[in-house]
Amino acid sequence: MTEGYIKFNCDWEPSEIQISEVIYNQLEAERTKLFALGLIGMYPDGIGFGNISVRTEGSSFLITGSATGQFATLNQSHYSHVCAYNFKENSISCKGLTKASAESLTHAAVYEVLPEVGAVVHVHCLWLWEKLLNHYPITSGEIEYGTPGMAEAVKVLASELKMKEEKIIIMGGHREGILAFGKNLEEATTKVIEIYNRYQND
Ligand SMILES: [Zn+2]
Repeated sequence: MTEGYIKFNCDWEPSEIQISEVIYNQLEAERTKLFALGLIGMYPDGIGFGNISVRTEGSSFLITGSATGQFATLNQSHYSHVCAYNFKENSISCKGLTKASAESLTHAAVYEVLPEVGAVVHVHCLWLWEKLLNHYPITSGEIEYGTPGMAEAVKVLASELKMKEEKIIIMGGHREGILAFGKNLEEATTKVIEIYNRYQND
């Protein structure tokens, strides 16, 4: 059963958002660690990769905006607040001085099925991705990033992870893409870095 390709639709309200100092500092502290390891960054062709988010209320969340990968530090204007989303329509509504990317729907999928999750981290790392392929739940290689299919696949895998200690999902059709989540951002980031260190010398 294949779905026709549905273009990602972002309903963006380009206005300033208020992020509390506590949340902002937390986002920056954890993102800095991932950036230092090259797990968030920019490819030579100028395309940014990696994003992190924290739940605000319900299933809405704050996420690093699109095209922010190259910056070592971000200010409040680089974040976007995803207020609503629709998996079937491949759409989100967001607010902020930077737009949220299509990958926001993958974050939304995790928040939707796991109420206890407070933060989602999405990083890119080819060698780590290759090493983790056979160790963690993985989405089908046929499902591309930023598609409704990816959100659906992540929903299924995330709900199966409920009781598992290591909340990691490998994105099979999104080469290099790894997803980690936890009750808060520190937990999710620590997990990624722990695995990065564990497999580095493997
Ligand atoms: Zn990605």
